[in-house]
Amino acid sequence: MARPAIMRQMPQIAHVDVNCFYASAERAFDPSLEGRPLVVLSNNDGCAVTRSPEAKALGIATGEPWFKLAPRAKEWGLVARSSNYELYGDISARVMELLGRYSAWLEVYSIDEAFLGVKGEPDQLLALGHRMKDAVRRSVGVPVCVGIAPTKTLAKLCNKWAKNNAAFGGVCLWDCVPPEARDGLMARLPVAEIWGIAGRLSNRLNGIGIFTVLDLVRADPVAIRDKFSVVLMRTVLELRGTACIPMEEERIGRDQLIFSRSFATPVTTAAGLREVLSIYGQQASARLSKHGLQAKVLTAYAATSPFRNHEQAYPSVCVSLPMPTADPLLLTKAAHALLPSIRDGLKYAKAGLMLTDLRPTGNQPPLEPFENPHEERRIGPLLEDVSRRFGRGSIGLGHAGIRCGLDWTMKRDMCSPRYTTRWDELPLVKAA
Ligand SMILES: [Mg+2]
Repeated sequence: MARPAIMRQMPQIAHVDVNCFYASAERAFDPSLEGRPLVVLSNNDGCAVTRSPEAKALGIATGEPWFKLAPRAKEWGLVARSSNYELYGDISARVMELLGRYSAWLEVYSIDEAFLGVKGEPDQLLALGHRMKDAVRRSVGVPVCVGIAPTKTLAKLCNKWAKNNAAFGGVCLWDCVPPEARDGLMARLPVAEIWGIAGRLSNRLNGIGIFTVLDLVRADPVAIRDKFSVVLMRTVLELRGTACIPMEEERIGRDQLIFSRSFATPVTTAAGLREVLSIYGQQASARLSKHGLQAKVLTAYAATSPFRNHEQAYPSVCVSLPMPTADPLLLTKAAHALLPSIRDGLKYAKAGLMLTDLRPTGNQPPLEPFENPHEERRIGPLLEDVSRRFGRGSIGLGHAGIRCGLDWTMKRDMCSPRYTTRWDELPLVKAA
């Protein structure tokens, strides 16, 4: 199909997502689970949080309590596994490490999903998608699907098509789907299936006659903004091919908190990265406290810049914390487990923390010998209070402490001086 050459030159976004992640991670190390109905249970083995396709075919719903399923498990051949976040965190780290080798930029979007910036002719992009899919399957042992499109929302949509239609072979490239076929596929997909459209919003959309993705694409973006929000207008524009959802560096989801930053100037030593990880540990702790959450598993990663002509590395490590915690000391110490894999001399451009196995604070009071002395003294909230009142960098733990001029922090080339809060940035008045 002929397309304007300029369209082909546009950067594209690949969305890579592990199929039934927790179930696939279990299968990666236990092939006997292959082809059998499998559910992974929530904390305390409460209810099914992930179902293999075979379990879905049995009609098992997400959130179905295990005590209801257990009596029929034998008859169905159904296998259950408790959630093993340390395993999932590590498999996730391996998948992301591998994907990091394929792209100019990688955004770890969730424990099992990433967006990657990619460029090339359609046939090259299709081949790249298949290479990534095959590499993850071969090297990590989990199946992924890939969607590639001009926007994040369309890339997610293509991924869904790749998952639901065997004809795509696991990789769907927007530019290779003929327009009539796109319309047909979008007309069959309920609007609730689109990224960012949750239950209540989809009910409201249904109320004004928007039932399918195609209905939404054909809606007037301005009317959508006026009736709903600018966020939903962006979704409509993204579905029409205009990229307007930028890269996210921090997000908290149902299952995980992701905290990552790119550095303005590369960090080239383990000592430098120790400082970065210390600050991230402290900031991630503040985020958890803010949401009333504790984490049990931490994954730390770093990446060299893919734009430069030098050796590349994407080290990552997964640490099981001694107890569910939001304690900055424990999180920082865990993040430092990445340091032995950092090689002095490489140019690291980015680092991040992913916290998983999240639960509400105080859900399970620890046995006394395991009580955490820091949490008792509320060090995390105290650090956050001081930072809020006196600014970031005014207080810190150990290596995240006060230093003059951290040179790796976020790029802020167009930021005016902090005239009123920094002695060294006070405005100067020169008398003639
Ligand atoms: Mg998935």
